[in-house]
Amino acid sequence: MLIERVNIISNEEVAHNIWQMSFEAPEIISEYKGPGQFINILVEDSWSHPLRRPMSIASAKNGKISIIYKIFGDVTDILSKKLPNDNIEILGPLGNTFTNWNVDCYPILVGGGVGIPPLLNLKSECENYNIDHSIVIGARNATEHFMTHEPENDIILTTDDGSFGELGTVMNPIDRIIKEKNSPYIFACGPEPMLVAIRDYALKNGIPAQLSVESYMGCGVGLCQGCIISKNNKSQKDNSYHEQYSLVCLDGPIYEAEDIKFEQS
Ligand SMILES: Cc1cc2nc3c(=O)[nH]c(=O)nc-3n(C[C@H](O)[C@H](O)[C@H](O)COP(=O)(O)OP(=O)(O)OC[C@H]3O[C@@H](n4cnc5c(N)ncnc54)[C@H](O)[C@@H]3O)c2cc1C
Repeated sequence: MLIERVNIISNEEVAHNIWQMSFEAPEIISEYKGPGQFINILVEDSWSHPLRRPMSIASAKNGKISIIYKIFGDVTDILSKKLPNDNIEILGPLGNTFTNWNVDCYPILVGGGVGIPPLLNLKSECENYNIDHSIVIGARNATEHFMTHEPENDIILTTDDGSFGELGTVMNPIDRIIKEKNSPYIFACGPEPMLVAIRDYALKNGIPAQLSVESYMGCGVGLCQGCIISKNNKSQKDNSYHEQYSLVCLDGPIYEAEDIKFEQS
């Protein structure tokens, strides 16, 4: 992991409040291991926003990284106002990667909300290796989607209000695909309610699943201990918090579904 000051190449709105930025980051790319990893961006070097903001790597090719981000608060708003040739400071690459997607399985890639970028990255790797796969992307309504609904090409978009793609959540298409395909394996990233639903479904039906968790994060390197998630460790000792908790920045963000617990479950 290293820190690199990078030049922005492009920064454009691709859907309502959702932006895509690309920049040259040859040093960070030289350490990049694969889809699932993220970077931590210092958008402004000031006391008003001292903490970096984590963003998944949506693509890492030819010395360039791209991210796709939603404007949530102050810092993502400032990020959206950056122009080509402006520079920002990046810490990365951070975190682990999706695994086993290229080993005798049918990958079902599932993204929701701001969890889409790492799955788009994984989709492009599946394409590079000619691995047959499906991608299911959920959003509240049509304005949040920036891809096209192409069920004939195994790209399925859903909306909670039915304004685009299939009506409902990602769970219906997931269930359908699992019934159609041999050796399905779910790879998912998105809001916690979606990950809880996928984890419960996967455990109930014996389907392997890897979930990428987006917890609040400060430093990204294990110092602040801000991104803790509870582990599902049945043999944990009463007084050892190391067996009970995991740091998403160092151990994650990707976990096997059976290995983690969520607040709301
Ligand atoms: C490993 C990881 C990868 C991420 N990848 C992406 C990505 O590819 N694209 C993207 O748009 N976002 C991603 N996020 C979330 C992103 O980091 C936050 O949206 C961002 O930090 C918000 O900063 P802000 O100053 O604009 O908003 P803030 O003012 O910090 O927050 C505004 C509101 O946004 C929500 N929020 C902020 N951070 C999070 C969070 N981590 N999880 C859930 N809700 C949050 C809260 O409701 C908060 O009140 C990722 C987070 C993690 C941990």
